Amino acid sequence: MSTTIDTPATTRIAIPHVIGGARIEADGRTGAVFNPATGAQTGEVALASAALVHDAARIAQDAQRAWREVGLGKRQQIMFRLREIISSRAEELARIITAEHGKTVPDALGEVTRGLENVEFCTSLMHHLKGEYSEQVAAGVDVHQVRQPVGVVACITPFNFPAMVPLWMVTTAIAAGNAVILKPSERDPSAANWIAGAFAEAGLPAGILNVVHGDKEAVDAILDDPVIRAVSFVGSTPIARHIYARAAENGKRVQALGGAKNHMIVMPDADLDAAADAAISAGYGSAGERCMAVSVVVAVGEVADELIAKIAERMPRVTVGDGTAPGVEMGPLITREALDRVTGFIAGADAEGARVVVDGRELDVPTGGFFIGPSLVDHVTPGMRVYDEEIFGPVLSVVRAPSYDEAVALINGNRYANGTAVFTRDGKTARQFEFDIEVGMVGVNVPIPVPIGAFSFGGWKDSLFGDTHMYGPEAFTFYTRRKVVTTRWPDASGSQISLGFPTH
Ligand code: NAD
Repeated sequence: MSTTIDTPATTRIAIPHVIGGARIEADGRTGAVFNPATGAQTGEVALASAALVHDAARIAQDAQRAWREVGLGKRQQIMFRLREIISSRAEELARIITAEHGKTVPDALGEVTRGLENVEFCTSLMHHLKGEYSEQVAAGVDVHQVRQPVGVVACITPFNFPAMVPLWMVTTAIAAGNAVILKPSERDPSAANWIAGAFAEAGLPAGILNVVHGDKEAVDAILDDPVIRAVSFVGSTPIARHIYARAAENGKRVQALGGAKNHMIVMPDADLDAAADAAISAGYGSAGERCMAVSVVVAVGEVADELIAKIAERMPRVTVGDGTAPGVEMGPLITREALDRVTGFIAGADAEGARVVVDGRELDVPTGGFFIGPSLVDHVTPGMRVYDEEIFGPVLSVVRAPSYDEAVALINGNRYANGTAVFTRDGKTARQFEFDIEVGMVGVNVPIPVPIGAFSFGGWKDSLFGDTHMYGPEAFTFYTRRKVVTTRWPDASGSQISLGFPTH
């Protein structure tokens, strides 16, 4: 018997843009926003026209001219105040995330904490924006380099981290002296408005952080607008590729992070209980809707049967339900389409020659919402849809690899290269894996190796188009332009004319 969640009669809230410090209500198209735990539509988000993007970019441009004049100490104080506002009201933000995304409140709080890490990193913006100076590069000549803001930048973000990814991008861009057009996912847009409110409360001048909601029309207007000088994107690979190509064609600097298919290798010498725990946590946390979720377990040598048994034995303990309910560990998927898609992968797996060990469709889940239980699929091989495509749901595939070399070749042959992990007790194997693997972020007995805020985040291959990673030091590089100044203060005596090329 399925349990039904009581769906309270909800009023649909209107979710406006926030431009130049003002709420701008929809004056054209809108998009439906749902509570994925109930399936009920709870909001109606404004969808920007190209003309509105154009206006917002010019408001940002005007505001940025004044913002770059603001002293670094003042900017830093805003960052400290922002940190206090978000950390003291983290639960409020987490509940907004859960209401539109579906992840559990503790998981949403974890997301807020990881976003705050970047705010904390940006409180040291004075250090991160330091320039360089070389004295006496030639007689009486000095050279120094400064970092100046790019101008107006756009941040286009995915549904799965509606607070963390915006906080990764906009905080650094603003700390570096830019103005921002934030275009969040239209599926869970309210967290972005909350963040804009927090920045305003922290003292950020109007027009520096503008939230423009929308879909393809708004995004394409961003990519084509000459006022917008840089684009940061996180989302799926086909869209990342589109963003990268079109923004670059228009002369913008661009970083576009794409999808993932993260593999976790389990070596025969691994602690199998720890590996099974890690597979469950990293595979099913946030219903598998994390770009760093483990989606493929590579069982090396003879380890598969025992490992699968240990994973399967733990799966009934994963509590699936409304993310606001105490004790729930896994919430629903984001939309009904996502649920249908994930269901399709499990339904097709047997026919392709895999074996569905645990079928999430059979779990008793609340009706109405976009729920499915966790699934485990064995004997998966490349060439099967369940292996080749990013599922982005609570489905763990197991690929059996006879040896370490074949496991590594499998991962290096995959077009995605966001994160990966090795589970082993042998330091030499771990070191070799780190050396061999062609993936941007690597865990050794750590299944979700998201770097701490002082490092930067990014994958390789089809998981990132561009060359700078998100947040941390590389973000300050992305959001600033280096200017190099060569200086001489000549004395007044004698001719200074020389037609030769300047040398030392
Ligand atoms: P998505 O690509 O559908 O959407 C991302 C953004 O692009 C949204 O703001 C959306 O409005 C916009 N968009 C969607 N379709 C568009 C189009 N045709 N033209 C222009 N813009 C468009 O991604 P999603 O479903 O919101 O997020 C999940 C995806 O993001 C997964 O593939 C996941 O792996 C990826 N992701 C990657 C990382 C990473 O670090 N590499 C992090 C988080 C999520």
